[in-house]
Amino acid sequence: GITLLSGPGCPVCVTSQTEIDRLCRMAEMDGVITATFGDMIRVPGSDTSLADLKAEGKDIRIVYAATDAVEIAVQNPDKKVLLAGIGFETTTPTIAASILMAHRMSVTNYFVLCCHKRVGPALDALMQIKDARIDGFLLPGHVAVITGTREFVPFAEAHGIPCAIAGFEPADILRGILSLAGQIVSACARVENCYPRGVTYDGNPRAIQVMEAVFDVADAEWRGIGRIDGSGLKIKKKYEMFDAENHFDITLPPSPPPSGCKCGMILTGRLVPPQCPLFGKTCTPAAPTGPCMVSGEGTCAAYYRYHPPATRE
Ligand code: SF4
Repeated sequence: GITLLSGPGCPVCVTSQTEIDRLCRMAEMDGVITATFGDMIRVPGSDTSLADLKAEGKDIRIVYAATDAVEIAVQNPDKKVLLAGIGFETTTPTIAASILMAHRMSVTNYFVLCCHKRVGPALDALMQIKDARIDGFLLPGHVAVITGTREFVPFAEAHGIPCAIAGFEPADILRGILSLAGQIVSACARVENCYPRGVTYDGNPRAIQVMEAVFDVADAEWRGIGRIDGSGLKIKKKYEMFDAENHFDITLPPSPPPSGCKCGMILTGRLVPPQCPLFGKTCTPAAPTGPCMVSGEGTCAAYYRYHPPATRE
């Protein structure tokens, strides 16, 4: 009797097509080195991807920490180093720390394209979708490590919906589901921390402080959901010299999602991947059409891996 739906929990998957296109336009400029986490590199924009640009000879590098990109900038003073700033509260403090590091070291050739998202406002937006059929939320443990349980308490109270913060091991997920089932059966709604070995009530105050020092809250565009007030971040004026949007000044009209791709419906729990007509046919992990198939965290990629088309009912 339990249906598990994936929400907008993968940062790559919720990055809008326009943001990906803007990143690619910047990455193809002469004299630019683009640094990115590995899961962004194959995400298709409207006409290219970072992987395609790399194959064409553009300098695209995978980094494992944002501060690695600052080091690349220091080592290449005649180039501009662009970091794709993508991720939720889990990643945002590390990007903020890289900006503080560049500021401290007076690095002038390091830029961040800020596409960060905040989980809380997206949860509110999901609750506004009438056909989303959500009875409870398994909340992301990695985000809660930073924000703490306290971030989600007003949400659970405002909507009267059961919430469980879960970790990543099978037993963590089962514990979270058990919590939600228990709350639903007993008709109560609260935030239960089912990942106490990683999450505290207050989260990581130092990480929050670093985030707040560098970023202001802003509106953001989410793939499949649209614009959500206060769901993004922008670099504060004090650090605007590191803001790639200011520096590269590329304005693009909104890009439509790939034709036929149902990522938006999947990210809001209204469809599951096998209901997308492209799933496993023209869209596979080897040749993805949409971001939900590219990232290992993406719902379509997960379905393809664990429930591939040949064996699905
Ligand atoms: Fe988009 Fe591919 Fe998923 Fe369909 S299967 S929703 S085209 S990513």
